[in-house]
Amino acid sequence: MKVINTIAALKSLLEPIKLDQQKVALVPTMGALHKGHVSLINIAQQQADVVVCSIFVNPTQFTDPKDLEKYPRPLEDDLKTLEEAGCDVVFMPSVTEMYPEPEVWHIDLGPAEFLLEGEFRKGHYQGVTQVVKKLFDYVSPDLAFFGQKDFQQVLMIKNMVAHFNLPIQIISCPIIREDDGLAMSSRNIHLSAADRKNALVLSRALSFVKDNFSKLSIVELVEKAKVLIDETPGVELDYFIVANGETLLPENDKSHHDIVALVAAKVGETRLIDNMILN
Ligand code: AMP
Repeated sequence: MKVINTIAALKSLLEPIKLDQQKVALVPTMGALHKGHVSLINIAQQQADVVVCSIFVNPTQFTDPKDLEKYPRPLEDDLKTLEEAGCDVVFMPSVTEMYPEPEVWHIDLGPAEFLLEGEFRKGHYQGVTQVVKKLFDYVSPDLAFFGQKDFQQVLMIKNMVAHFNLPIQIISCPIIREDDGLAMSSRNIHLSAADRKNALVLSRALSFVKDNFSKLSIVELVEKAKVLIDETPGVELDYFIVANGETLLPENDKSHHDIVALVAAKVGETRLIDNMILN
């Protein structure tokens, strides 16, 4: 496994691979890797010859400076995880490597940018697309793998790719969960034992909606899911929505082909998100 810190070294490593017509996959991450990240690497390995994983805690996508500051960075463990996963290249740039000068970035990501996470984390998807565009420019991957865990993020990346007409296939990969249903997240390590137990209500509420999708109306499903969450101590709901998977607007028509339930809540001091595709 090659560990690379500079854009120049990355480009010269990848140049012969591209000339050789090998397929390159990119898996962007912010580190603190868990089985969810490893699943993306494994899926990428099945579809490409060379897998590049980036580890970069991107400051421009954080709206809360405290969140950025306390973001976990267990670098040695991450490198071990990637080595064991058989990752080919790790790109781990510094902040000055990625942002040598202050820069302005703003692109039209469509109206869904401002909904859900976009409402609670203003400017988040500008920061996300800014850094992913840089990574796409430096790696020039044929394919890039993202987790459905960040459902809205996948949508925003697809919109960014369409905006620049980039020849990169974006692949959304299933959510990896703990045995009890909690969606794996780098932020889960901040949960106290009580938080960890209370956090289960998020996946339970989503499963309730999925399991009862044919029996109850969408209004009833959302109402009951919200009650479940509101009844749980230490959990403060930001949103629970059954939405159209393309527009992220509330969906009322159960026969629509692309419906997803999305939730975000603060559990103790930690903000968690999760979702489930309903049809
Ligand atoms: P992050 O390091 O949190 O930026 O995540 C890097 C990538 O891993 C993103 O595409 C996430 O959606 C994905 N990811 C995070 N958690 C999971 C999970 N539990 N299952 C699958 N993919 C995940």
